[in-house]
Amino acid sequence: MRKHIVAGNWKLNNTLDQGLALASEIANMVADEVTNGTEVVLGTPYIHLAAVQKLTQKTANIHIAAQDCSTHESGAYTGEVSAAMVASTGAGYVIIGHSERREYHNESDEMLATKINMALKNSLTPIFCCGESLQIRESGTHENYVCQQITESLFHLSANEFKNLVIAYEPIWAIGTGKTASAQQAQDMHKAIRNHIAGKLGNAIADTIPILYGGSCKPTNAQELFAQPDIDGGLIGGASLKSRDFVDIVKSF
Ligand code: PEP
Repeated sequence: MRKHIVAGNWKLNNTLDQGLALASEIANMVADEVTNGTEVVLGTPYIHLAAVQKLTQKTANIHIAAQDCSTHESGAYTGEVSAAMVASTGAGYVIIGHSERREYHNESDEMLATKINMALKNSLTPIFCCGESLQIRESGTHENYVCQQITESLFHLSANEFKNLVIAYEPIWAIGTGKTASAQQAQDMHKAIRNHIAGKLGNAIADTIPILYGGSCKPTNAQELFAQPDIDGGLIGGASLKSRDFVDIVKSF
């Protein structure tokens, strides 16, 4: 059975104190209420990583993620944070290629391939985001588009490296819009992604890769989405900022 993962993406929200308060609420609720073995990941701003890691390290099944990492190892790159620095905080995951970074920071497929290499080299699990715009969805080319994103940023990896990935399918038209992909639309894309990986690396690898859905996932729709055979969890934006909603999503499996 594949791992179930619910990852929150706090984006540009929460001061250090606010982030610690939120993490503490989530950790308490997870410890008291979550019995389904789902792995919980908190994707915090860089400044929270070390403190949230310390606060949550004793709670089983909680892990910490950065929301990005640099393409560089070190050097004169003001403002950048390397994968090694992320790993040194105790974080185990890093989100790579979120559509907001692709759009506002012009992150190309090629740049994302380098970030994936940096993450793996530093023993971080990348949560690789892919997804199409509304225009591409309406043109009917969405499956080819998303599979191409995967080819360009991930297919240079060996089977052994690929096994360490998590993929998040996030249709851009569903992120922060309140408009969720239907469970069937999400399942169809997750299946297409898994088939694409199987075509390159075989079913044995494809069947082990967790593929998360992201895009206006809430306690009211998580159960139906997570019931789909190829949906292994969620990447949660807005609802990850409310401890009750986030933990209710974790409990939806
Ligand atoms: C996201 O940004 O990764 C996301 C899924 O956001 P939201 O849940 O707010 O749509």
